[in-house]
Amino acid sequence: MQSYGLYIGGEWVSTSERYEVRNPANGEVIAECAVAGAEQVEQAVQSALSAFPDWSARSYEERGEILRRASQLIQERFEQFALTETLETGRAIRETMAHDIPSTVAVLDYFAGIAPALQGEVQPVPGMYLAYTRREPYGVVGAITPWNFPLWLAVIKVAPALVAGNTMVLKPAPTTPLTALMLAQVLHEAGLPPGVFNVLTDPTPGTVGDALTAHPKVSKISFTGSTAVGVRVMQRSASHVASVSLELGGKSPFIVFADADFDRALAYALLANYFAQGQMCTAGTRIFVERPIFERFREQFVARAQRLQIGDPIDPGTEFGTLHKREQIEKTEGYVALAKQDGARVLMGGNRITEPPFDKGFYFQPTVLENVEPTMRVACDEIFGPVAMLMPFEGEEEAIRLANMTDYGLAAGIWTQDIGKALRVAHAVEAGKVWINCYNMIPPHTPYGGYKLSGNGRELGLHCLLELYTQVKSVQVDISPDYFEWFG
Ligand code: NAD
Repeated sequence: MQSYGLYIGGEWVSTSERYEVRNPANGEVIAECAVAGAEQVEQAVQSALSAFPDWSARSYEERGEILRRASQLIQERFEQFALTETLETGRAIRETMAHDIPSTVAVLDYFAGIAPALQGEVQPVPGMYLAYTRREPYGVVGAITPWNFPLWLAVIKVAPALVAGNTMVLKPAPTTPLTALMLAQVLHEAGLPPGVFNVLTDPTPGTVGDALTAHPKVSKISFTGSTAVGVRVMQRSASHVASVSLELGGKSPFIVFADADFDRALAYALLANYFAQGQMCTAGTRIFVERPIFERFREQFVARAQRLQIGDPIDPGTEFGTLHKREQIEKTEGYVALAKQDGARVLMGGNRITEPPFDKGFYFQPTVLENVEPTMRVACDEIFGPVAMLMPFEGEEEAIRLANMTDYGLAAGIWTQDIGKALRVAHAVEAGKVWINCYNMIPPHTPYGGYKLSGNGRELGLHCLLELYTQVKSVQVDISPDYFEWFG
């Protein structure tokens, strides 16, 4: 069992209070972590502040080189990272091996490579002036991340923020702090100067988060998590007018037109709903299927979902692991009960899995609902569990109307072979990320983020580097031989 301290000022700092991190698949303790409080938040912010002048003065190349070395070290410890991510989240090892760790490496390499794009511009102003802009880092960035993809979601903040010259305090989710702490170790070994990156862990959601978001020296908050907490983060950081970017919840539509490549759409519909046991912000849970193929799609979706290999997340054959925590299983169960009460029909699943060897974890059956009205709570609220709902529609107009019947706007999937229709629908759906004939593909080059209650700002891509982690300074120089006199 590993034992971790806090990572502050380039050192591992122990605390008298400790807490246990457990494997959600069986309840076993997998590590012990330090408990940060207000005092450690102050220390971490001060150490990030002290490190800022030197770090921000270094060249992009030098900062990028450290990210590249960190990427290399993660690749060398690939299996250790994948196993730890699986043990702390409950997500299948085939997912963390195929997605989380390779995507993390790709993000580090991408931001190391595009750092030179941080250029200013010259403005052609009237008169004899040289007017130009500089992209400058904010200073200390406070980053807060959720539990579902803990390493990758941390790195998509850490890589652009650091390469742009910011320093940082990261607060991972209480139940999944381990890969963030391993990331600190890797950055340390890669040569990151003390204080540039700090990690604080605590078991109680809110304690460190509240202190960090309200800290007057944290100039930028980058938050990923639920909409309810995101709103609170925004409110608390308003007191010192911090720049805030929020990546929040979702209730994404997955629209299958009758002319779609049926088998491909079906395969991706399963991925959109059961990858990570549905615990994805982008989960495409509202599956709208055009009437002529609805029956066939429903039959085959259920048949395929029934074949999912449920098992211990560390077993390479497991396709579907455990939900992450008690609250999550209770919430999922509550929504299935509510759906039934409202008149929906459970086509499969809908229950916890309680027989051994699953009785010690938070296992829940892959679930499919039909007879769901778009106004039912189950179709409006984010469940964050393996609950897919199949709803028929007729024609493009109705697809768009149904897709937009949500307060969220994170993602959308569109399946058709008619390129004109695909693009018309893509432009009409209120979502920050639209996939046509694919789903859940998030390469580091493309911006990613939500409309409406799904957040603001865009992570990844050049947008993120420029807009999330730098601020613009406008410089104007008078080059005229004459001088300007207003008075006298
Ligand atoms: P959560 O909102 O409960 O917690 C997210 C983080 O916020 C955790 O680190 C938590 O400890 C912290 N936190 C809790 N209270 C806080 C407070 N008062 N101040 C500051 N921080 C506080 O979310 P979760 O349950 O960990 O994750 C699931 C949610 O995250 C879902 O809603 C999901 O859609 C969302 N999510 C969004 C994206 C995205 O990119 N849009 C990605 C992954 C997850």
